[in-house]
Amino acid sequence: MTRLFGTNGIRGVVNQDMTNELALGIGKAWGTYLKQRISRPTCAVGTDARLSNHMLKSAITAGLLSTGCNVVDIGLIPTPTLQYTVKQKRFDAGVIITASHNPPQFNGIKGTANDGTELTKDVEETIETIYFSRQYDTSDWGNVGTPSTWDGAIDLYFNGILSRVDTPAIKKQKFHVALDCGNGAGCRTAPILLQKLGCKVTKLNCNLDGTFPGRHSEPIPENLTKLMKKVRENNASFGVALDGDADRAIFIDENGEYIWGDKSLSLVGKYITFEKKGGITVTPVTTSTCFEDVIRQNKGEVVYTKVGSPIVASVMKKNHAVFGGEENGGLIFPEFQYCRDSGMSLAKILEILARENRPLSELIAEIPSYEMFKTKIACPNDKKEHVMNQIVEHMKNKSDVRDIDRTDGVKVYLNHGWVLMRPSGTEPIFRVYVESKEKSKAEQVATAYKNIVRSLIEC
Ligand code: MG
Repeated sequence: MTRLFGTNGIRGVVNQDMTNELALGIGKAWGTYLKQRISRPTCAVGTDARLSNHMLKSAITAGLLSTGCNVVDIGLIPTPTLQYTVKQKRFDAGVIITASHNPPQFNGIKGTANDGTELTKDVEETIETIYFSRQYDTSDWGNVGTPSTWDGAIDLYFNGILSRVDTPAIKKQKFHVALDCGNGAGCRTAPILLQKLGCKVTKLNCNLDGTFPGRHSEPIPENLTKLMKKVRENNASFGVALDGDADRAIFIDENGEYIWGDKSLSLVGKYITFEKKGGITVTPVTTSTCFEDVIRQNKGEVVYTKVGSPIVASVMKKNHAVFGGEENGGLIFPEFQYCRDSGMSLAKILEILARENRPLSELIAEIPSYEMFKTKIACPNDKKEHVMNQIVEHMKNKSDVRDIDRTDGVKVYLNHGWVLMRPSGTEPIFRVYVESKEKSKAEQVATAYKNIVRSLIEC
């Protein structure tokens, strides 16, 4: 069966593969799924700032209403604001129209269960099966759903964050933050949240614009050069950049230096496990060893998962984890919600700076540094499974291999670092990640392992 849902919902180019017809069908299928479990479900819908948001929201809303689902429109909001609202307001489901950090011609549909967490693979597959079978549970004329609107989501979200950090300590410091929302949904929340936390805000790309005129939406170094400059020019305490739907936050230190997501994840993990005297933390196998180093220092434990925030969140929930997240700026705070959240990440970094009373660069310098090297190799999709098994067989005989982990692809622990060989879920490629203390070693190992994987693909 064709898969519609990827790692983060359904995505595509608007009016090519992400069409009204698809959104309408997903609305009907989702409504059918919900009605098999609840007699009169209520679903919250929201959107990010893209030009096609109303078009797709209208289509999916029509589909949901046709099955007898009530739909509450909570407006243009970040993804974590929708997720928190669904949980707090006890909606039966939530849907956000967003393509996160993808270019403006893209849009997508992402689902939320009644506890605010992202839909599990099982639920997505059930919705897909209903969609492809067209076995919709359409209501008679008198029982179609009722649409309504609610504009309290953003205040609810602010109150949730402010009650979970040391707001008085943050306010006292009067931080100066350079904020780059990338013209995305974070424009609706981040500037006000920072003001509520007593910060002076220097804004960049903080006007909503679905064409993303200010910068590309992905918060990677080459897209944040203006923010780095802004931090230096304005002597800001630090800078922060959000992606298009504001679930991820990337930080810039007071010197205008980019902080990789591994490091910010480690800083927050270190702080939380210190406060809690240990605890379980969760992150995907791609995260740098610096995270495990700081968690172990505090007698904490790291559980590794496959790549993707829904799996990180569900493993956190199962293990009663104290913290978790991804190396791309997606941090998950279980006391708030089991979803990546830029607002809570921002507030927590402010709390750490307020309590430590030291500059961000100094705190980051205390996190161990590793060199990461990434490369990719072409591999037909139908060969991936076979190649992975071959890799494991090949590695068993190598003397420098300490351990082999099959959580996601094949991760090989060496005496001086690790290599992860992972087939892409969407493209005909194998990704090879290498981490080592030394740059030259990482590059050397990457070349050697790339050659091994290539030879196994070709044989
Ligand atoms: Mg995102």
